[in-house]
Amino acid sequence: MASEPCDVCEREVRIAGGIGDLWNFSFESTQGMTLELTDGSEFFLCFECMERLPDDVEPTAQDVADLRARTDPVEEDGNSFWHWG
Ligand SMILES: [Zn+2]
Repeated sequence: MASEPCDVCEREVRIAGGIGDLWNFSFESTQGMTLELTDGSEFFLCFECMERLPDDVEPTAQDVADLRARTDPVEEDGNSFWHWG
């Protein structure tokens, strides 16, 4: 099992990888996939972010950039430290 950061929300996403995973592959163990756009660019997105892309047209790199601009990066305990005092 490997993980890769989502290009939109930046959370670590588990992905199935390697020959061993082929034998017990399941969608529960994979939380994202590489999205290949028509312009040839590639993004790795978790399924949650992928669902937020427009589904009536082919998504473009601009759509991914827009979605990223609307999405706050997921940070572990990112705020508590800065709000003391
Ligand atoms: Zn994401």
